Amino acid sequence: MEFRDLKKQYALNQTKIDSAVMEVMKQGQFIGGGEVDRLETRLADYVGVKHCISCANGTEAMMMVLMAWGIGEGDAVFVPDFTFFSTAEVVVFRGATPIFVDVDSRTFNMDPVKLENSIEKVLKEGKLVPKVIIPVDLFGLPAAHGEIHELGTKFGLKILEDAAQGFGGSIKEKRAGGFGDAATTSFFPAKPLGSYGDGGAIFTNDDELAAQIKSIKVHGKGTNKYDNVQIGVNSRLDNLQAAILNVKLDLFIEHELESVNRIRNLYDKLLNGVVTTPHIPEGYLSSYAQYTIILDSKEQREGLKSYLQTQGIPSMVYYIKPLHRQEAFKSLNLEGLDCKVSVDLCDRVLSLPMHPYLEQIEVDEVCRAIKFFLKSKK
Ligand SMILES: *Cc1c(COP(=O)(O)O)cnc(C)c1O
Repeated sequence: MEFRDLKKQYALNQTKIDSAVMEVMKQGQFIGGGEVDRLETRLADYVGVKHCISCANGTEAMMMVLMAWGIGEGDAVFVPDFTFFSTAEVVVFRGATPIFVDVDSRTFNMDPVKLENSIEKVLKEGKLVPKVIIPVDLFGLPAAHGEIHELGTKFGLKILEDAAQGFGGSIKEKRAGGFGDAATTSFFPAKPLGSYGDGGAIFTNDDELAAQIKSIKVHGKGTNKYDNVQIGVNSRLDNLQAAILNVKLDLFIEHELESVNRIRNLYDKLLNGVVTTPHIPEGYLSSYAQYTIILDSKEQREGLKSYLQTQGIPSMVYYIKPLHRQEAFKSLNLEGLDCKVSVDLCDRVLSLPMHPYLEQIEVDEVCRAIKFFLKSKK
């Protein structure tokens, strides 16, 4: 059994993917090109925003937004404590200070009440200037964007939605990627919409920001890349990756998003009353980048993970460590930081196999093994 079965996705769609790749090879246009333009238009349309700008990966996508907004030393950027490293890495990379906010124990996403407390604390201390909130749509579930938007307005902060895992999710018909002043996503192969290499994109309705990012991503270009009006980076999506993504976007829209939600229902039903299953608030839709359960203790989680492995069932711990305890942030002196929920989740979460091509018998097998293990330990 595969944790996320990319080989099966390819085998079932090989003709379409191969011909899209061959077409790019024949045309010989590799950096930029028709497939990139078509993908950007389609993604902007799907998400429901004015601009989609593709780039090299999801990390640089976030970094470029912070660059365009002029975020740097002395600025505070609020990030959830329970997420992938990138979300805070880009903040430090720009010279700004990440403020780690604890998460909600049921949604795994940034807790708006704790966010407000953190903003007030930074204001009271008066050392840093609050500038940006980066809510993450973790495991495919959109963050509490309604409440977070209100706080952004109240305190005059910009919002950058990290939708690297969130593509395809929605809150009442409004899709992930459309919630912040800007949003970013990743096309890393294992993300909900993944390519066969690295890739990313920025979404925004802001014309000025879009123009800035189009310049930054090509060496700070002015009228062309040999007219350089500012310091930028080189962050582009290959035409080959875009061609693959155009095929995969069809699959995603046609059935993959539905499939992961069907599989989620199966898991939920079979694991009901056995372990804590993912909580999806009313009106929210998740794209299930991960299907993550919560066990009673670290010991139980570790035991289950090992047992599943002996049964040939892969599982993953996202994430083993809260961000504020990462060695890389040691200089920020965060030992005493109060992020109890995030610390606790790192001990007790376990992500199970989840992808659009998972079969019902495989879900049955996973759930049977979980039940067997937990019963044997009673
Ligand atoms: C994967 C991921 C990123 C980074 O995307 P890359 O394309 O790998 O650079 C950022 N944030 C979150 C939450 C992610 O899961």
